[in-house]
Amino acid sequence: MSEWSGKRDEVIRLRGQVCYLCGEHVPMDDIHIDHRIPRIHGGSNDFDNLYVSCSTCNLQKGSKSVDEFKTVVMNDLDWFISLQP
Ligand SMILES: [Zn+2]
Repeated sequence: MSEWSGKRDEVIRLRGQVCYLCGEHVPMDDIHIDHRIPRIHGGSNDFDNLYVSCSTCNLQKGSKSVDEFKTVVMNDLDWFISLQP
């Protein structure tokens, strides 16, 4: 097991299978581990910067910070509504 997959399992175990961005339950095979503060903005690989997200949010968020992501969501309500059950 690589160091990263061990860390991934630990993040999922500690935080649960819930996307921290949209609040939805995330199936195990759809889980992406997101850097809350993106690496390019100086975010670390430590647990306090690693969160569970779904692939949809993770790909939308990309290298944005959470605040930037929320701004995008506010500007793209159709996409946000499409996330709702
Ligand atoms: Zn999500």
